[in-house]
Amino acid sequence: MTSVQLETPHSGKYEQPTGLFINGEFVKGVDGKTFEVINPSNEKVITSVHEATEKDVDIAVAAARKAFEGPWRKETPEQRGKYLVKLADLFEQNLDLLAAIESLDNGKAISMAKVDVGMCAGCLRYYGGWADKIEGKVIDTTPDTFNYTKKEPIGVCGQIIPWNFPLLMWAWKIGPAIACGNTVVIKTAEQTPLSALVAARLVKEAGFPPGVINVLSGFGKIAGAAIASHMDVDKVAFTGSTVVGRQIMKAAAGSNLKKVTLELGGKSPNIVFEDADIDNAISWVNFGIFFNHGQCCCAGSRVYVQESIYDTFLQRFKERASKNVVGDPFGADTFQGPQVSQVQFDRIMSYIEEGKKSGAKVETGGERKGKEGFFIEPTIFSNVTEDMKIVQEEIFGPVCSIAKFKTKEDAIRIGNSTTYGLAAAVHTSNLNTAIEVSNALKAGTVWVNAYNMLHHQLPFGGFKESGIGRELGEAALDNYTQVKTVSIRLGDALFG
Ligand code: NAP
Ligand code: MG
Repeated sequence: MTSVQLETPHSGKYEQPTGLFINGEFVKGVDGKTFEVINPSNEKVITSVHEATEKDVDIAVAAARKAFEGPWRKETPEQRGKYLVKLADLFEQNLDLLAAIESLDNGKAISMAKVDVGMCAGCLRYYGGWADKIEGKVIDTTPDTFNYTKKEPIGVCGQIIPWNFPLLMWAWKIGPAIACGNTVVIKTAEQTPLSALVAARLVKEAGFPPGVINVLSGFGKIAGAAIASHMDVDKVAFTGSTVVGRQIMKAAAGSNLKKVTLELGGKSPNIVFEDADIDNAISWVNFGIFFNHGQCCCAGSRVYVQESIYDTFLQRFKERASKNVVGDPFGADTFQGPQVSQVQFDRIMSYIEEGKKSGAKVETGGERKGKEGFFIEPTIFSNVTEDMKIVQEEIFGPVCSIAKFKTKEDAIRIGNSTTYGLAAAVHTSNLNTAIEVSNALKAGTVWVNAYNMLHHQLPFGGFKESGIGRELGEAALDNYTQVKTVSIRLGDALFG
């Protein structure tokens, strides 16, 4: 059996594929293994899906290789674009279902899940538009040569994605890889395999040739590691923790030196100057940390407020955070659902305990919410010092620290004081401050008077230990193409 009937409160009954999607078909794993998928709202088993082991990775890579060297190579760029645009249309037609599966499996609030699916469609369509605009150059050197460059696909791309945006990360990875003419073996996170399997069914419906997109459910240490060290995978793209990112690089170095792009963690500063519009700043600081239950690589988890407005800001931020509606992801007003898993829940609660023990003050939250499901109260810690674990390490939950700063120079120094560099924000009404501080922050994205404003046209990725390469925008095409130089000698001059 490679599908089951499931039901969500939002979209009713539907057919959920459970197989591995290899060479255009849903199949069982070679070893016949399955694993359970948990609903984080009630800790109950939703269903089981087939698990990919090394052998299945081999089969999927072989299918991707065959497609890459065969039909996909011969496909026109225009046709590649059409497939992606068709897939984007199908995402939109199935928006309610896909969003409901995200809420069921990941726990994210349904209103936010719908935004995610809309963004997936936007991303896929955008890269569909790029497919026939990937161009080389003619480069003049000497009169007797004609030189040009081509941007060729890299080949079979392994992609390993996390659970915090199960579909969005899928679209961010698939879009540019396919636009550039690669084939893909993508492994979803063990916690959230369901939506990508429905997306795989849409891949089939969109008419992609078999083997171009292969989707595997499985564990990082088995299927993920097999992809990262595979001798016939030409490139690996990874989103997840910095710890695993290092392992991916090592695996690439120890196998065939496959190309590596990494989108890793963060501990992003959200800096509020005294001249900021305070209502605006509070709403974006709240959204910056508590959106997606704090499970964002770019979460604004370190809040710094200029001392003259610190007390007022903290009081109002506390009030705002404690009003965030935490509960059933299918509730129309819900802003924050459960954390994704028991492991993540325990991890976050242990950081909260660590914060309390180290002398930080809980301004609001700090406890589990309810008795069932992985719900955690939105939590703000004050009275923190820069060396505390809760200020330096990525918590990946609804927990932030808040501290005051005196001058612009202080804000820049503390803003840059972690090993990460994914994102940052500056809130000010002074354009000079906005630009000066944005320029000085070591981060791949800086938002001004906003937070989490991601868009498929804008490159996203990390400075320092937050990653290598950029996703989204034109920049992502560099991850999935390699430049070939062709140099033609003209005339009949002999060498020497
Ligand atoms: P993770 O282990 O880095 O998981 C990300 C992906 O990598 C998953 O598909 C995972 O598979 C896979 N993976 C794990 N070990 C691997 C290995 N040795 N080789 C190849 N692939 C491997 O993240 P996590 O354990 O789920 O979460 C831990 C922390 O990572 C979080 O608390 C957060 O700090 C950070 N994180 C960051 C992001 C981000 O967006 N940057 C996303 C998720 C987590 P499994 O499904 O089996 O784990
Ligand atoms: Mg993991």
